[in-house]
Amino acid sequence: MKSIEDIAAALQGYDPQALSVEQVGEFLAHLVEPVSPQDARNVALFDALGRVLAHDVISPISVPPHNNSAMDGFAFDASQRQPDQALELRVVGTALAGKAWQGQVNAGECLKIMTGAILPDGLDTVVPQELTQVHTVHDVTTVTLAPNTVKAGDNRRLAGEDLMQGQPALRAGQHLTPAALGLLASMGLPEVCVHRRLRVAYFSTGDEILSLGEAPREGAVYDSNRYTVFGLLTRLGCDVIDMGVVRDDPVLLEAAFQQAAAQADAIITSGGVSVGEADFTKAMMKKLGDVAFWKIAMRPGRPMAVGRIGKSVLFGLPGNPVAVMVTFLAFVRPALQRMMGSTTSAPVFLRAKSLEALRKKSGRTEYQRGFVSTAPDGSLQVRAAGNQGSGVLRSMVEGNGLIVLHHTQGNVAVGDEVDVMMFDGVM
Ligand code: AMP
Ligand code: MG
Repeated sequence: MKSIEDIAAALQGYDPQALSVEQVGEFLAHLVEPVSPQDARNVALFDALGRVLAHDVISPISVPPHNNSAMDGFAFDASQRQPDQALELRVVGTALAGKAWQGQVNAGECLKIMTGAILPDGLDTVVPQELTQVHTVHDVTTVTLAPNTVKAGDNRRLAGEDLMQGQPALRAGQHLTPAALGLLASMGLPEVCVHRRLRVAYFSTGDEILSLGEAPREGAVYDSNRYTVFGLLTRLGCDVIDMGVVRDDPVLLEAAFQQAAAQADAIITSGGVSVGEADFTKAMMKKLGDVAFWKIAMRPGRPMAVGRIGKSVLFGLPGNPVAVMVTFLAFVRPALQRMMGSTTSAPVFLRAKSLEALRKKSGRTEYQRGFVSTAPDGSLQVRAAGNQGSGVLRSMVEGNGLIVLHHTQGNVAVGDEVDVMMFDGVM
């Protein structure tokens, strides 16, 4: 486990007073470690959605297990065709899905076959029923194929074309999506070995913050950060430990940090990390842990504290509700994914044409709430979604993504393409 000082020393141009978003990402990748595979356990497939594979999965079987037909039609040996000539074949039987057809198909013959039925040895091609002419005379059925209707190998699914027996089908670190569950099931595996879930404790700080149920009071606001953090963590598949609102009181703060560190892999706090903050949060983080206090070249979300308290990783997020969500998406989420053992890469950005001119200062990364839609010509377009104040949560609800204006980027003109990180799939 590297100390904050060690990590900082190894980073090019590390300046805690002016870190770029990229440097923060790099720093966090050094700070956090994946959970141990020793704590992994088997779970039933129905309990595995959203979990992370702890080991490679080697396919115990080939899928499909046999060459089979991709269509309802007639299976035959394509080598008997002559170029540009029609072919007439006698139908000698019907192969149904789920059982092998017993019999011999000779030259001049074909087999009526259903989708998924085993393709007998020697037959390599299936002509779909609708591309043939079928005649029956005195119990003898023949099919005629017009010249060049199909190529050799058409409509044949090869054994093992999805998964080959003995080959890795899924790699450790794979996030188990609905498709991955289906793939595991196709191998006949009822259970899968997954990493343990991360435990993440979170609390809000600030004397002006009210818990739900408390009577409104002058100058006080209801705690929204615990709910957005809860939602973001739950979407990520973490076990959450909600520790409420903690007052600006050294005794209460110390107890909260100690209790969180004793139970959780990560601690997320909000509030109390800005410059000139007259509270005890930063002092307590410094006293109890190995913590760096940063100013990040970004908007929203400039101040942030990061480090360790005991064995827990600490993310001290700013207090503003939108800054909490943006710093979570930009930094905390990828760090937690790494801790979960996930090898999922960062969400891809979409490119969309800006419908508005956007003011942007070079030398910091700016995240604007945006609403992406499809233009009449089918391309993607984006407009800024309402008030961009870092406390305005409403525009986070009204937007469907974050416009990411990168560090070196300047003003955006109408029609310029910008990167957008979509909310879909991450929150
Ligand atoms: P701070 O980072 O503590 O200076 O807080 C910045 C702003 O965010 C202040 O206006 C706080 O009232 C507000 N804020 C802090 N924590 C919360 C919270 N949990 N829920 C809603 N607003 C908050
Ligand atoms: Mg405060």
